[in-house]
Amino acid sequence: MKVNNTNYNINNAGETVTLHGWVSKTRNLGGLIFIDLRDRSGIIQLVVVPECSDYEKASNLKNESVIEVLGTIQKRKQINKNLKTGEIDVLIDKLTILNEASDLPFDLNNTTALEDTRLKYRYLDLRHDDLKNNIIIKHKIMQSAREYLNNEEFIEIETPILCKSTPEGAREYLVPSRVNKGSFYALPQSPQIFKQLLMMSGFEKYYQIARCFRDEDLRADRQPEFTQIDLEMSFISEDDVMNLTEGLLCKIFKDVKNIDIPRPFVRLSYEEAIDRFGSDKPDTRFDMEIKDITRLFKNTDFSVFKNVIENNGIINTIVVKDAADKYSRKDIDKLTDFVKTYKANALAFLKYDGEFTGSIAKFVSSIEDDLLNNLKIEKNDLLLIIAGNKKIVKNALGFLRLKVARDLELIDFNKYNFLWVTDFPMFEYSEEEKRYIACHHPFTHPKDPDKLNDKENALARAYDIVLNGYEVGGGSIRIHSPKVQKQVFEALGFTLEEAMEKFGFLIKALTLGAPPHGGLALGLERLTMILCGTENIRDVIAFPKTTSASCLMSDAPNEVDPKQLDELHIKLK
Ligand code: ASP
Repeated sequence: MKVNNTNYNINNAGETVTLHGWVSKTRNLGGLIFIDLRDRSGIIQLVVVPECSDYEKASNLKNESVIEVLGTIQKRKQINKNLKTGEIDVLIDKLTILNEASDLPFDLNNTTALEDTRLKYRYLDLRHDDLKNNIIIKHKIMQSAREYLNNEEFIEIETPILCKSTPEGAREYLVPSRVNKGSFYALPQSPQIFKQLLMMSGFEKYYQIARCFRDEDLRADRQPEFTQIDLEMSFISEDDVMNLTEGLLCKIFKDVKNIDIPRPFVRLSYEEAIDRFGSDKPDTRFDMEIKDITRLFKNTDFSVFKNVIENNGIINTIVVKDAADKYSRKDIDKLTDFVKTYKANALAFLKYDGEFTGSIAKFVSSIEDDLLNNLKIEKNDLLLIIAGNKKIVKNALGFLRLKVARDLELIDFNKYNFLWVTDFPMFEYSEEEKRYIACHHPFTHPKDPDKLNDKENALARAYDIVLNGYEVGGGSIRIHSPKVQKQVFEALGFTLEEAMEKFGFLIKALTLGAPPHGGLALGLERLTMILCGTENIRDVIAFPKTTSASCLMSDAPNEVDPKQLDELHIKLK
């Protein structure tokens, strides 16, 4: 079996070896031909002298051809410190071309090829070190997770890919059934119901590295199919799930990056996260928390703020430290446009330089000391202020906080800040569906089943794990009482018949010995993206789809033969 070419080093000098790999680059320097031979492990340099019987072959080698060489390891004249094998090269006796590459659609040594071309020839693009390493990091994360969960006595169990359609949450992919005319399977959005049923089967601790499918509009960090490290446990509390997950993530970071993450992770309630960071996935690698200054304006003459207060609105600010001189009027206008995209009406600002200047300076002269003391203002600080309805103010300032931090480069990219967000709302109002939907999913246990009717304020026993401003996972304690499950379906607007039709098998199982249980799923791609330092989900999937959900390499999805449609009893509109 082949060994890694880069296992060889100066201690092997004088040895005769057979190597295999791809021709990454060739150079002809005064008769000597140098070949960078690449395999999965990296590059090793080959040297062909004019006296070699295969010299002619070597001089016509095409990049990316696959070759086998027989040669002798020797000490290099000029050491290359950037290569693991930089102290040696291999003097070639014999060269065999195993597969000659034809003209390449793009030059692998040049990174300017268009993404579409690279996706069309994904197998070529995967030869690049950075992509290859991402895929290997993903592999390491999966192995680390398996090792951890196996040690904790979890059992890996597969669940079906062809499932019952239960439209709730994201749109599903449907698969027509040939055998059952007119019926469809759905691809799972997650193994949620099955993993709960496995608890009812008595497995107690389940995990799966599970493929999930959601037919949603795609963004840079979304793909129609993705993977979760999915787990579920019986007879546990929130603390148990959180402790286990912290252990799992710490092991992954240690195994993959040799980083020790301190425990326990910070915990914030949803309400606190929104109050302080304007987000349920706060990035805490920098400060600039949102401060409520409504109280300071209670006697204001400024009609806009006065109005907001009279209408139960709020006035909040972020203080950008030592940055007043970095923002011109024009820059502030741009920030105003930015917050308007999040529905804020306007952005007020104050600069402090011994006195306040800025758009609302004349309205703060009577509360100067309060502002200075409450917000610990120092010279050259900039205050960005939004007033209005609470949801809009928090959300807009949350995004503004992130934007300013990026613009001013306040984020330390070497930090890995994990935190839990707990006590999520049970329901959220969907403008699109004009009804309340489950904030997490309909199997989440309410904090207090007696308060389900207060939809705006009912809380769930749900938690998310957040890393550097990304939601990397989430889960909940589940309902194990058929009565509570029915109440939740009712609160979501399902009639009993509808609930039974969709989830009858689950409700029945809840009446036949269901243990208290809960769990969580980690988004494998998100985690890998963060560990690889990329913001593009396609960089961590071997064969990804485009944002229009197609595969440029294989041309999926494609039209099918009418005969196939016929067998499936399908007629296209
Ligand atoms: N199935 C859930 C999800 O995909 C995770 C969980 O609750 O365990 O978001």
